[in-house]
Amino acid sequence: MNAFSLTPAAAEPHLHVARRSLDRLRGVPALAARYAGHGEPRTLDDVAALPPLVKDDLNVALAHLRPAAERGATWLFQSGGSTGAPKVGYAPTGFYMRGVYEQWRPLHRDDVFVNGWGAGRMWGAHFLAGAFADLSGCQVIALGSVGRDEYGDWLSFFGDREVTAFGGTPSVLRLWFAHARATGVKLPALRKVLWLGEAWHPQLDEDMAAVAPDARRWGMFGSTETWVAGTNTPQCPADVFHLLPSQLVGVDADSDGLLDFTTLDPDVLNPVLRYRTGDAGRFVTCSCGREDRALHILGRRDSVVQVRGLGLHVDDIVARAEREPGVTRAQVLITERQGRVASVDVLLLGVSDGDLPERLRRDLMSGTFTISTAFQHDPESFRVSAVDELISNGRTGKTSGFVVREEP
Ligand SMILES: [Zn+2]
Repeated sequence: MNAFSLTPAAAEPHLHVARRSLDRLRGVPALAARYAGHGEPRTLDDVAALPPLVKDDLNVALAHLRPAAERGATWLFQSGGSTGAPKVGYAPTGFYMRGVYEQWRPLHRDDVFVNGWGAGRMWGAHFLAGAFADLSGCQVIALGSVGRDEYGDWLSFFGDREVTAFGGTPSVLRLWFAHARATGVKLPALRKVLWLGEAWHPQLDEDMAAVAPDARRWGMFGSTETWVAGTNTPQCPADVFHLLPSQLVGVDADSDGLLDFTTLDPDVLNPVLRYRTGDAGRFVTCSCGREDRALHILGRRDSVVQVRGLGLHVDDIVARAEREPGVTRAQVLITERQGRVASVDVLLLGVSDGDLPERLRRDLMSGTFTISTAFQHDPESFRVSAVDELISNGRTGKTSGFVVREEP
């Protein structure tokens, strides 16, 4: 059973875009068979009957289709693939940000906005934020990625320039605000913190309150394939988003709330048709007072990693570790050797109590069925350690809850 973000009256006049995506997907030899027997989607029920797409399907389709924008440049961005050749997604100049600007206005002409999303390496967020700033008419400081040893100088520059808005992924924002707080830097002019790319983290609220007490968070939600699908304001909970009318979002109650996305924007280049990002959610009425059908994101449903034939719920392990006093962030590192999980490490940031790692290790070992069973014969292959730095993606600056590493 699929529930949709839009009513039939709002969605159905725009389903010609979904029909065009279906035509494109049918033209991909590797995918044609799965759409055989499916008619042209004319109603939301027709859309719900179509088979969902996952990331690999979309990459197969794009490799065959190589879409091109009708106007302006066609931009190629990386849409996954951690080893070897990047998998590629496409977007036209403007990155569909006009629709975002129609419903979401955190920036104004008098703002001084630091674009802290990393640029280059085929990641789209920096350019998307630039296109949004362009529509807003504000002043832009195109910062991109900066090494930690440069934070101090840049922060004093931001203070001098009376920066009012700062954007980035929550992982990168956490580094900036933690550094500013630890070194006593204040940014009293800062009012808005724009974020996209990961879930919000409550630690940011604490650091922002110390560094920039008047700053509030403004969030965007989406994926590399769908681009921005929804936005929120400081009045909304951080995990609730108001969807764009050009994004038809389905919630599949039969699949644990898995979300699928169908883009109804006529300029869309990626054939996003019931595309599953791996996120789950449910529709709610947002506490901000807007009455539209808002989306409460419940997190990813693919955070279950197979460890020696057993499903390990990585998010649960990270949440358990982050409840320990002093732990500002935790990460699960899975090391594979010849396709088999050789070891699991829980890395802890911010630990001052030297006994904590071993105590937590014992607790997790006895309290987690998957770990105690999987490492029954080699308990030394499950470790908990305090570290100075977690493992980040050098391209996006994102620090995910788990990392898989292949050892030769
Ligand atoms: Zn709201």
